[in-house]
Amino acid sequence: MNARRVFVRRSIVGVATLLGIAHLLPGCRKTSATGEENKATTDVTACDDLSAISEEDRAVREKLAYVETSPIPDNQCSNCNLYLPPKKDSKCGGCMLFKGPVFAEAYCTYWAPKG
Ligand code: SF4
Repeated sequence: MNARRVFVRRSIVGVATLLGIAHLLPGCRKTSATGEENKATTDVTACDDLSAISEEDRAVREKLAYVETSPIPDNQCSNCNLYLPPKKDSKCGGCMLFKGPVFAEAYCTYWAPKG
């Protein structure tokens, strides 16, 4: 891993730790009492359906200023280094920083270019 990637990874983990969401990052997952891993994404059909998301997790989205349509056309979740592409049967992606569905055209203040 080159020095830039290490720096970016450590910065992301640091910010996530401050926000109390480091367990959502790959390699930083915590397990429940049953040993089941928490998941960064959920299986919902509509990308704006947050009914399965807790208030706490919704607050994290707000802290990061997540919006469904990016105000910066060249900076969207789909080209962010933290974006999790949709799984096979879903049209919604996810984000390494919080739980729940994410629009490919969305954006937040932690947008990071793909390295
Ligand atoms: Fe996650 Fe923000 Fe990147 Fe979208 S822009 S994938 S919400 S970090």
